[in-house]
Amino acid sequence: MSNSLKRSQSILRDAERPSGAGKKPQSAAKPQDHSDDGHPVIDAREEMLFRALDLDNDHQVLRSDLEQVLKEVGLSADDPRLHESMTALEAHHRSLQAEDEEEPEPGIPKDAFYRAIRHNILLIERALQGNLVVPDFEDFCREIDRMFAETRKNRDGKPADYIPQLNLPEPAADQFGLALCTIDGQRHAAGDAGVYFPVESVCKPVMYCLALEEHGAETVHSFIGHEPSGSSFNELLLDKQSRPHNPMINAGAILSCALIKHKEKTEKKRRYAFGDLESRGWSGSRIDFVMERWQALCGGEKPRFSTPVYLSERATADRNFALAHYMREKNAFPAGADLEDVLDFYFQCCSIELTCEMMSLVAATLANGGICPVSGRRIFQTETVQSCLSLMSSCGMYDFSGEFAFTIGLPAKSGVSGAVMIVIPNVMGLCTWSPRLDALGNSVRGLDFCRRLVETFNFHNYDNLTGHSDKKDPRVSRVQLQAVKVNELVWASSKGDLSAMREQLLRGADLNAADYDRRTPLHLAAAENQAEVVQFFIEQKLEGTRSVDLNPRDRWGGTPLDDATLHGNTEIIALLEAAGGKRGVMTNQTSHGVAKGAATLPTDTHKTAEMIWAASSGDLVTVRRLVAQGVPLDAADYDARTPLHLAAAEGHLETVQYFIRQRLSLSPRDRWGNTPLDDAQRHGREEVAALLRRHRGKEGGKEGTGKESSGKEGRARTRRRDKQRAVSA
Ligand code: GLU
Repeated sequence: MSNSLKRSQSILRDAERPSGAGKKPQSAAKPQDHSDDGHPVIDAREEMLFRALDLDNDHQVLRSDLEQVLKEVGLSADDPRLHESMTALEAHHRSLQAEDEEEPEPGIPKDAFYRAIRHNILLIERALQGNLVVPDFEDFCREIDRMFAETRKNRDGKPADYIPQLNLPEPAADQFGLALCTIDGQRHAAGDAGVYFPVESVCKPVMYCLALEEHGAETVHSFIGHEPSGSSFNELLLDKQSRPHNPMINAGAILSCALIKHKEKTEKKRRYAFGDLESRGWSGSRIDFVMERWQALCGGEKPRFSTPVYLSERATADRNFALAHYMREKNAFPAGADLEDVLDFYFQCCSIELTCEMMSLVAATLANGGICPVSGRRIFQTETVQSCLSLMSSCGMYDFSGEFAFTIGLPAKSGVSGAVMIVIPNVMGLCTWSPRLDALGNSVRGLDFCRRLVETFNFHNYDNLTGHSDKKDPRVSRVQLQAVKVNELVWASSKGDLSAMREQLLRGADLNAADYDRRTPLHLAAAENQAEVVQFFIEQKLEGTRSVDLNPRDRWGGTPLDDATLHGNTEIIALLEAAGGKRGVMTNQTSHGVAKGAATLPTDTHKTAEMIWAASSGDLVTVRRLVAQGVPLDAADYDARTPLHLAAAEGHLETVQYFIRQRLSLSPRDRWGNTPLDDAQRHGREEVAALLRRHRGKEGGKEGTGKESSGKEGRARTRRRDKQRAVSA
């Protein structure tokens, strides 16, 4: 359970406590039409954001609640994209902060809230609505942490040993870090995610991007190919046109280095033939430029440079020298390139150091088409990133690239220091680092983690091909998934949309899928007299191709035949009876007969279904997100069931309390004429039933006597009582 949920539960523990308890009383906020500087302040969208945070419905919100919401979705209150709003809220806080530290947190009234959030309103809105690319971010991170812990057990492989800086002894060799950042800047890290490591070969995609940005693809690819080499990363091998096969192997990366700032450099050399200071400082400014680009990719955090790694790389570089000489012999370099200088630059680029957290931002920038998600700055053109990701997909993982593309299906690049940078286009970037390598030079744990990642989530490039996969899709919230999977089908069935049923069937949908009341498409078809749909179900059963159940039981034991009988749908009764339909024992049958609820009609059945699913599992976080999206709390489904019915039936006291505070009508009738109080009583939810009765919620059978009390009245009474007590004391 999230902290915010816990907190909101404790806030709601007593729905009848005095308004604003736990918050410093504020003068009631009067909504104003215009801010101080004359801009309109309030509109419906802002109003919904406020309402979503105003759990107590007392016209104040807490900054800590907003921070908690941000945390839940993986954003930090220090996120630069929220800076203005958080500063404004901080200033508001300071102006009210009581002398006494023990004082409860001051509430923020509407006008102050609106004034603060408008600076960064889009991101705040998306956070509050749960509309970031990974909506259930905490659930997602739990899965990631589980995989991380499993992967950590793998102790195979050994660190690179060609230079001492990489050949880490135990226990340093056992380090393992992981970080991820989504294209919306949601971040998570595990293990040694803050430890610096040399980027080594992970510099290759970045150097390639820099070359592309400077010269364009045509020029760059007149020097470097796009084919997997089929040989080792440092093989003395060029393609038929005497080019390195691709930029992800050593020969290609050395050529990228030769291209970066090449023209400027040769011009400078010409101009300063005798080597003045500026010319001699050229190599320094070139690596400075590269470091600055890395820094921008990391959202502003400065990378380090390891002189020991650089010196060792240079001292052990016979193969790279051999490669460069071979390329020079074959005229592979641009005119005027200086072999030693280029190699030196390449060793420097390999010796830049980052942490997993920083590298995950680099990966996220690539996943985001070249715009750094946290700074919002464009670092690379989208075409540059497309080229880079294409080649990472086919050539990024040494001699394992083909198999990686096949089994993992994601663009990635690994380096001998044990880093793997993984890009999930349009979703997120990840980085793992663990020094032990396999025989091909890839981090053992890095690969292990990637396998687990695509086993659980539908991240493989082609996982979305069928539109139906057993893997989890973290881009869709749990509740949204249920609503899509079940309610669409049930609703289509209730309306007689046979073509939708057929299409769903082709897509592999389960025709027996049941909603929060275990109501199935067949129940609804029978209740709504949709003979064609019922016939369709019977045919499926007869064909035996699908395991269609003609007698599923709903929450109250009712079968489709019971539905047909209740509504007097004779044609359906005949169809079902002939096909083996049975009657159940319906515990929700009432003497007051069939009724349609008085609840609000849904404008969006999808969102209504999400709201009811959320209420049925007591998921206040999702309820709040849906409120921020403007979804009504009291809309009803195809059985006239409302969120309050489901919260009551499942005994979610806090959720029922929340609904009471939001002043909903407490006695809507469902298809069978039953109210939330009936639900609570039937399912033995004593506390919920008592609470509803206290607020004068009605039973379905008892018509119109006694006015139910709204949350407002409940609190007003309490306040009056408190006042009287204060007076008599
Ligand atoms: N500096 C290393 C080399 O050129 C990079 C190796 C790697 O990470 O693949 O050999």
